[in-house]
Amino acid sequence: MNFSRWIFVLAIIWVLSGGIVLSSWYINYQAMQSSALEMVNIKGHSLFQLVQASRLWNSRHGGVYAPVTEQTPPNPYLNVPDRDIVDSSGRKLTMVNPAYMTRQITDLLRETEGIDAHLTSLKPLNPINKADLWEQTGLKRFEEGQLDGIVAKEGDSYRYLAPLLVKASCLKCHASQGYAIGDVRGGLSIRFPVEDVEQLVAKLVNLTKRDHLLAFFTLSILGVVMFMAYNAFQQFIRKIQARRAELEQEVLIDGLTQAFNHTAILYEAEREFKRCLRLNTPLTVLMLDIDYFKRINDTYGHQKGDEVLRQIALTIKSLLRDIDLIGRYGGEEFLVVLPDSTLGDAYSVAERIREAVAAIPFQLDPREIESRQQVTISIGLAERINSSSPDVRSLIKDADQALYQAKKQGRNRVENYLVASW
Ligand code: GH3
Ligand code: MG
Ligand code: MG
Repeated sequence: MNFSRWIFVLAIIWVLSGGIVLSSWYINYQAMQSSALEMVNIKGHSLFQLVQASRLWNSRHGGVYAPVTEQTPPNPYLNVPDRDIVDSSGRKLTMVNPAYMTRQITDLLRETEGIDAHLTSLKPLNPINKADLWEQTGLKRFEEGQLDGIVAKEGDSYRYLAPLLVKASCLKCHASQGYAIGDVRGGLSIRFPVEDVEQLVAKLVNLTKRDHLLAFFTLSILGVVMFMAYNAFQQFIRKIQARRAELEQEVLIDGLTQAFNHTAILYEAEREFKRCLRLNTPLTVLMLDIDYFKRINDTYGHQKGDEVLRQIALTIKSLLRDIDLIGRYGGEEFLVVLPDSTLGDAYSVAERIREAVAAIPFQLDPREIESRQQVTISIGLAERINSSSPDVRSLIKDADQALYQAKKQGRNRVENYLVASW
């Protein structure tokens, strides 16, 4: 295969491999982007569950008391009796309810982890818990009954929001707002810095980038190997076909005259005979024999005899049509089959062959450079319809009979079976 064809094939393999790998990369990239949101969802949900559990723990105790400190002053939004008490050792204690506790925990989260989590509500007791626009939309969805947490990417951060439902223990503080058990009290809104998630995504992207690059080279190499294998296979098939043609040639063709051999011409003649019989079209066979050939062999030698045979075969072939068949029937006898030819057509062809052979200027004696020798042939014809032969073998026999007549009539002649049988 030439160089430019190789370049072309390599280009196609690379474009195809590139196309496949790029498509896969694109699908992967999209999946990674959506898995980033999924990660936010999982992370948000875990935090939410933790906060939820600690709130439940608090509310099951009806609030817990903590020493009053600078970080934990009494909660001005908590309107319950015994909010502030003094213990037996004189320490001032104040009640920390779930909302207050949540705020303290989320303050800690912000300080230590950079995660901003806060309570949010459409009807907050503490105005700093008022929902922003995104939270309002989410909270309204929760109120409509869609209680799954929601996620979004906003600027440099990812956001997560999940509903907080009213439990029996919440009513101690929130009954005055008209809540019933199961109502959406508000939500826990969490904001993560984008880097955490994005770093993980970038790591994944890098990993798949390496995998895709590897896939591209593997595909390209595989493509080249497959193409080489295909090429080798094609060459192998071509070799087998060529060898088969050679073998066919050896089996069917006579090496000296390049005409069909005896078996092959009989087979072909029978096929043509059957075809013409089926279509009821004429078919004529010619039996040709070189006159006094023995003498040529005896006088000029076998090699010269071979040369005469070869040249006569060539001359006969040159006067036949593509659909006609010629075979070496015997030593120096040829069988010619003329499909779709009447006796009249065949007679003209036979005459032309006889004349052409007689006109070949054979130079058989090397000592007599100037002199030329004439070699003649005799031909017998038999036609399928006129001879009423049942099969091709008896038709050939008829032609042979006609040939015998031609020899008897003095040679260098054409005789047909009809005349011969009279
Ligand atoms: P006729 O006119 O009656 O046909 O006389 P003829 O001498 O041609 O007689 P016949 O057809 O019987 O002779 C055939 C001769 O052809 C005999 C044989 O030596 C010769 N012959 C057969 N095959 C070959 C061959 O392959 N090469 C050569 N050189 N001679 C061959
Ligand atoms: Mg003979
Ligand atoms: Mg002869």
